[in-house]
Amino acid sequence: MTHDELLDYDREHLWHPYSSVSNPLPVYGVKSATGVRLRLTDGRELIDGMASWWSVIHGYNHPVLINAIQEQAARLPHVMFGGLTHEPAVQLAKTLVDITPAGLDLVFLSDSGSVSVEVAMKMAIQYYYAAGKRQKHRFLTIRSGYHGDVFHCMSVCDPENGMHQLFSGVLPEYYFADKPECKFSDEWDANDICSLQMLIEQHHNELCAVILEPIVQGAGGMRFYHPQYLRKVRELCNAFDVLLIADEIATGFGRSGKLFACNHADVVPDIMCLGKALTGGTMTLAATIASRKVEEMIASTDPGVFMHGPTFMGNPLACAVAQASIQLLLDSDYLTQIQNIEKQLEQGLAPCRDLDSVADVRVLGAIGVVELKEPVNMAHIQPAFVEKGVWVRPFGRLIYVMPSYCMENGDLQYLCSAICAVIEEEAAG
Ligand SMILES: *Cc1c(COP(=O)(O)O)cnc(C)c1O
Repeated sequence: MTHDELLDYDREHLWHPYSSVSNPLPVYGVKSATGVRLRLTDGRELIDGMASWWSVIHGYNHPVLINAIQEQAARLPHVMFGGLTHEPAVQLAKTLVDITPAGLDLVFLSDSGSVSVEVAMKMAIQYYYAAGKRQKHRFLTIRSGYHGDVFHCMSVCDPENGMHQLFSGVLPEYYFADKPECKFSDEWDANDICSLQMLIEQHHNELCAVILEPIVQGAGGMRFYHPQYLRKVRELCNAFDVLLIADEIATGFGRSGKLFACNHADVVPDIMCLGKALTGGTMTLAATIASRKVEEMIASTDPGVFMHGPTFMGNPLACAVAQASIQLLLDSDYLTQIQNIEKQLEQGLAPCRDLDSVADVRVLGAIGVVELKEPVNMAHIQPAFVEKGVWVRPFGRLIYVMPSYCMENGDLQYLCSAICAVIEEEAAG
């Protein structure tokens, strides 16, 4: 297929995320990728600032990961998980139990982040069903969250920038606390927890779980909040007999500067969701990891089993490459790499602070965010980034990057200066 044939057919027949085929935005063909560089079908090369939505933590085409896939593909690419098991799944479960906060001991594997959240929510509902508290089947979350695009996940996404209006009448209606305002490195403000505390006090009799993204709110607003907030949520959940679900799909595997964002607060949730970087961005896989207390309660009452079982559950290819990716991460000096990226992003994005069109610049771990005062014009800004040789995909008022941990200083500086330059050019019209 020529470059033009590829893009022409794509434009006529393919849906892209949050897109319209009738009114398409620019789409670029990718031929291959190595390290932090994407090679386009038109021959151009881009420095990738997105790590394919948080997932490609070791860079593209990493030989260790490719090898893990090839070896597993030659042995057993897939087998059903009902009544059967295999070493890749068992090895991965062992690793996940070892590295996640103590007490998270039971691993449910699924195919995507949204499904792992759906699974976590079903676990919480089944937990209180089994406990004989059947009125406790509703959820409490915080505004500005993002938990995925399937129905139950949408119901706990931010009610304004989520899809609540579009699907109202179909989506379950849950409780939303004000978003945390106290920033990650601010002094803790005890008032920040009041809204959530009030809701949990009023509604605990109907609540099965609080679900939130720990420390970093991702696609719902790219915000970093105070670890004390998370500790307070844990205390309130304990006090009012409500489970805590931590959605670490974006933050897991080092992204926020700790292996898991919960580690910033030394908080152990009852259920944790992992996805995105789990396979180093090579295959789709997610995990819901629960405490034994959750499982034992579910098992104690009819039907006595947890009611979920995707066809591709525990896919051996995905498990094998996940194990290889986690091992690669743990064998590396990833915390130092991420600290360095944090420093480079701080320095590189600092000049944006002086631009009139910029509302805020914030960095945590290997995440850099420039929040504008007005939403970007995607049709204009996306080609502007590509012209500069970088892959950055903004949404709304947010221009953000979360590079692979192997990105070198020169590329980080180039990426940041391209962002500053494009913002300045866009503002100038
Ligand atoms: C991406 C994301 C999801 C959804 O994962 P998918 O793999 O896209 O289904 C859920 N929660 C958070 C925090 C995410 O960042």
